[in-house]
Amino acid sequence: MTKIGLEIHCQLTNLQSKLFCSCKANYREFEPNENICPVCAGMPGSLPRLNQEAVKKATMIAMALNCSTPEKIAFFRKNYFYPDLPKNFQITQLNIYGDTSVGGSGTISVGDKKIRITRIQLEEDPGRLIYEGSSSKNQITLVDYNRAGTPLVEIVTEPDFETPKEVRDFLNILSDLLKNLGVADPSLEGAMRADANVSVHGGNKVEIKNIGSFHDLEKAAHFEITRQESLHDRDIPIAQETRHWDDRRKITVSSRSKEEDMDYRYFLEGDIPWVKINPEIRTELKSEMPESISSKKERYVTKYNIPEQVADVLSSDKFYSDMFEKSHTESNAKEVANIITTELMGLEDTREKREASKLTATHLRDLADSIQTGKVSRNSSKNALHEILKTGKSVSQIISDLDLGNVSDELELLKIIDKIISDESEAVEQAKSNPQTINFLVGKVMQATKGKADPTSTLNLLKKQIGI
Ligand SMILES: [Zn+2]
Repeated sequence: MTKIGLEIHCQLTNLQSKLFCSCKANYREFEPNENICPVCAGMPGSLPRLNQEAVKKATMIAMALNCSTPEKIAFFRKNYFYPDLPKNFQITQLNIYGDTSVGGSGTISVGDKKIRITRIQLEEDPGRLIYEGSSSKNQITLVDYNRAGTPLVEIVTEPDFETPKEVRDFLNILSDLLKNLGVADPSLEGAMRADANVSVHGGNKVEIKNIGSFHDLEKAAHFEITRQESLHDRDIPIAQETRHWDDRRKITVSSRSKEEDMDYRYFLEGDIPWVKINPEIRTELKSEMPESISSKKERYVTKYNIPEQVADVLSSDKFYSDMFEKSHTESNAKEVANIITTELMGLEDTREKREASKLTATHLRDLADSIQTGKVSRNSSKNALHEILKTGKSVSQIISDLDLGNVSDELELLKIIDKIISDESEAVEQAKSNPQTINFLVGKVMQATKGKADPTSTLNLLKKQIGI
């Protein structure tokens, strides 16, 4: 039996400023050590000032994960020396005087399974070390404090995962949830990192630190389970230890650091008073919370009759569900959902993906209406969509510019069909003996009309003309 527990660090990337000073939370746009001040650089005598917005956003995450939220929260100093930590302590949270972390126990559903959340804490991110030099002889270590003090939420789970796949599914759900709440963009480099605790057959727990991507986390868990199973099979005891994920070699490596034995000498952060979270604030936060992914999904299915699978994909993605909300009408909702999930979400081209953000609600609404009223076939609507992304022109303009309008005139369509019948006499004979081969002729008509003919009426007219 495998048990996996996670500690996920997630930056609150949508905040304006750092956790204890007014430097930018978005450190990614700066040259090294440009986004620092005496507070986040740990200068003696500087005093932290708590970012209230960060407390609110972290509380929202706790609520969304069904965690209890205490009436008072407190901050602690976690003391250790490391070059990326300018103060030589990290301001974080700890539950030694009762539950004083921003979130207490909670749950999140992953498929049919409930994963228990142990706690959620708000803390500051350290700086970053950059290693330069090609060999160990000339290697130098540079330090960039731009990230120091960035608001970080740590989500700790119980060891409820039994497979690496469950871990991956959970992270995808969590990532969608954070995006939906509007608190973070977990896809940004380094915005979501994790440690995993893995044990097999009730043996010792091994902690894997320093995993930077979901993909690697799943791989690391796989590797670690295989490694421990193999030791277990040979009756070799599994050491309780910290290992690091080597993402180049794709293996876990025993860590020689003494992190496990370190005494952090936690004590209350005297420069930040306890923070009271009044019931009114909690009520206010609840009312500010956006509709949850599951309730969105249910609404799409019941109100608009959108197939469950489509509703699932659409509701999980904040960017596209926002786009859906802005562009659909009561009558074209299903068609808009269809365009978004089958066409836009499948865009391979990164340039087009970028352009998708420029697509206006009017474009989508008009395109869906044009398909529904038969002005353009579903087939041609794909070309129209690519042209919109390229040019930004209106839907009606594009339909007329590219001559994408449906061949709805039956006489015109009949003319084309008659020509195909006389050109393809062999295929016509074949269709008479084997009606299924008529699809070849339908394809020819589609080709001749550049996909503008309605497939059903084409088939019916072809059958009538051939006499089958
Ligand atoms: Zn600062």
